[in-house]
Amino acid sequence: MPAPTCAGTGEGGAMKRVSRVLLPMLVLALVGGPVWWAWPGTLGGWRSVAIVTGWLGYGLLFASLVTMLREPWLARVLGGLGRMYAWHHHLGVLAYLVLLLHPVALAMEALPESPAIAWASVAPLQQGAAGWLGWAALLCLMIGLGVALSPRLAYGRWRALHGLLALAVVVSPAHLVMLGLEQWLWWMPVLAIGVLFWRVLRADCGLAALPHVVAQVAHPARAVVEITLRPMARALAAHAGQFVLVAFHDGPHFQGCHEYHPFTLTAIEPDGSLRVGIKALGDCTRHMQTLEAGVAARVQGPFGDFGAAGSGRPALWIAGGIGIAPFMALLRAGTVAAPVRLIYLYREAADGAYHDELVTLADADPDVTLVAHASGDGAPDLAAILPEADALAGVECFLCGPPGLVDAAVALLRARGAADEHIHFERFEFR
Ligand SMILES: Cc1cc2nc3c(=O)[nH]c(=O)nc-3n(C[C@H](O)[C@H](O)[C@H](O)COP(=O)(O)OP(=O)(O)OC[C@H]3O[C@@H](n4cnc5c(N)ncnc54)[C@H](O)[C@@H]3O)c2cc1C
Repeated sequence: MPAPTCAGTGEGGAMKRVSRVLLPMLVLALVGGPVWWAWPGTLGGWRSVAIVTGWLGYGLLFASLVTMLREPWLARVLGGLGRMYAWHHHLGVLAYLVLLLHPVALAMEALPESPAIAWASVAPLQQGAAGWLGWAALLCLMIGLGVALSPRLAYGRWRALHGLLALAVVVSPAHLVMLGLEQWLWWMPVLAIGVLFWRVLRADCGLAALPHVVAQVAHPARAVVEITLRPMARALAAHAGQFVLVAFHDGPHFQGCHEYHPFTLTAIEPDGSLRVGIKALGDCTRHMQTLEAGVAARVQGPFGDFGAAGSGRPALWIAGGIGIAPFMALLRAGTVAAPVRLIYLYREAADGAYHDELVTLADADPDVTLVAHASGDGAPDLAAILPEADALAGVECFLCGPPGLVDAAVALLRARGAADEHIHFERFEFR
């Protein structure tokens, strides 16, 4: 079952415009800097191509590393975690392709002498440790990227194999050192390895996360559990429409997966407690259905800003299944300041999480209209369910749900005249 996709704003207004430019500029600096520094001024031909592709590839790899940092402030500045992950992927693939050209250029340099010398100049068995390390880095990159493009692999295995990319970041400088890297170029691999450690320690080992404990567990629908996380130390400064990364550890009877998974907040309590609704979409989230009070958890974030662009303007919210989560938080926060039409689609009545609470909230607020629809196993008849063109004028559209539903609904909204700037996209897919 696919993880939900939400369409909404990453960041609002001016910040969004700034972040649109900042990320490409940062990448340009990280990639252009080393190439400029290492530019082979006196050399020519294929030797220069080899040097430039080597540093260009490493620069791209470095930029790919930076875009996988999970710091809320950095995500805010660079346009959201989803956007950073998309760049992380593209930069990684580009780095691999450029680095593949590096040995090709070396071989091309020697080719005029003879094909045998060309082969000898790159063959691992004939190049000693430096050659071995270079090829090992390329192999790590190839496996790490191949895995990145395999969405069907179980998340735990996927993460472990994708981690080979980190090995490539460490092995490539070793290759350079064996070749006699000049001291004044050391800053680059040192910085890259520093960024790698930063990510591993703060995000994967959880140094950036705050300790929480599961205070309450509720079951708002079939295969959905809602967890209240009480802060053990400082509370996170989060607001409705954001998501957090949560790792559940062990409790009286529960043994956690210990991995960080993204979940959208369904409520922020006055005492700083956070609520998340978790649907059983895979192995780990299925296991989370058995969570119990007292389980230790660590929480990173918050990230994102779903719904911010809609404040003050009439809005259409389309939720599919657990995609109701961000809308639930917005409604529970009681900050809806303009007419909102919430179309909530789920398969059967038993899957309609929070249905009764939503009815109560909508009854209490004249600005909120709820259309809850159990669509059965087939695809919902969106043409009949979504508003007609005249009802979409001046309306901000926010969508959260299974990718298929979001894609179909967005296509229909566009066909009915909703402009792209009023249908805000942010894919919630981090692989
Ligand atoms: C920004 C965001 C907000 C989300 N909010 C919610 C929510 O409020 N409630 C909810 O039930 N689900 C939410 N999800 C989806 C939830 O994170 C995944 O369902 C969960 O991580 C699945 O883990 P698994 O090991 O059980 O499943 P797997 O079988 O490993 O995977 C099932 C699906 O989840 C995806 N997935 C697995 N792990 C991750 C991960 N760490 N990061 C991103 N995707 C992953 C896989 O690519 C696959 O599509 C959200 C996802 C994102 C990206």
